[in-house]
Amino acid sequence: MKRQPIRPINGYLGMTALLAAILFLVPLFTVVQVKQKKQEKAGQQEPETVEILPPGEVDSAQKVRVLLDGGVQTMTMSDYLAGVVRAEMPASFETQALCAQAVAARTYTLYKIATGGNHGETADMCGDPTCCQAYLAEDRARENWGEQADAYETKIENAVAATDGQTILYDNKPVLAVFHSSSAGRTKSAGEVWTQDLPYLRSVTSPEEGNAIPNYYSRVAFSAQKFREKFLAAHPEANFSGKTSGWIKNLTVYEGTNVEHVTIGGVTVRGSEVRTIFSLRSASFEIEVQDGDIVFFVTGYGHGVGMSQYGANQMAKDGSTWDEIIRHYYSGVTLARRTIQDVS
Ligand SMILES: [Zn+2]
Repeated sequence: MKRQPIRPINGYLGMTALLAAILFLVPLFTVVQVKQKKQEKAGQQEPETVEILPPGEVDSAQKVRVLLDGGVQTMTMSDYLAGVVRAEMPASFETQALCAQAVAARTYTLYKIATGGNHGETADMCGDPTCCQAYLAEDRARENWGEQADAYETKIENAVAATDGQTILYDNKPVLAVFHSSSAGRTKSAGEVWTQDLPYLRSVTSPEEGNAIPNYYSRVAFSAQKFREKFLAAHPEANFSGKTSGWIKNLTVYEGTNVEHVTIGGVTVRGSEVRTIFSLRSASFEIEVQDGDIVFFVTGYGHGVGMSQYGANQMAKDGSTWDEIIRHYYSGVTLARRTIQDVS
């Protein structure tokens, strides 16, 4: 359709209308442009200025005794959980993933306290990740974070405050809220890795994409002699006579990724034990004999049970909230606010 030419009814009125339009439209255009720039910046992961939330009422009223560097420090649950999240998950992760991590860390702490813990009357928790959970004080984390320190610290403290007291429960009790770095498509059930199954630690899908994760795929090679030595140290009954290519047999996998059992030198062992003996990053692996060396091709990192941290981050990127992430990785659980007194 052809546009009708504008008929100048009155030159002066027309000019006024034009000026008014310019005066009105220019600032509007500028505002739109500024908004777009802000969005572009957010896309480039510029630190946003986020308001810091006050510590939650439930967590800040709880005291936890933490064994650190040989001494016991008594601190609020809020401060303790912030220290665990700083140490256990990259602060660059999505806010909802950090919230899920705070909830898992709180639940793990309450589980330890409820079941007597590892430190008797001395302390509730320690900072050793192989015993309790890693812990990193704010000043030390800030040194690692550099320019991002304020933004990261705010994200972490807010993740703890926003989930104040929230605890993962099964049969109304805090669960063993274990977590790991990344899985090979699926997590593992507790029984695949440890001695017994737990109803809430089942194998579930995990959406992390390997190419985005550092060292998601790793390769570890052993000479035939080194391989033999390491295995014999754990299983002296193994028999390594004959060709190297005949030492490893009957590798079976769960769900297409995680090694269930494998027979090495005539001894059948679980995938999780092979992981320990050869210090592999996970029990999702394939084995090949290459030029006389025995080579493991390993996928993912960690024991593979419970919440995958990279999987949680991917779920958050895809729009899941922290409670959706928790309910995905811990089967059949409920969430409610709990204190140390509630579970002791
Ligand atoms: Zn400990």
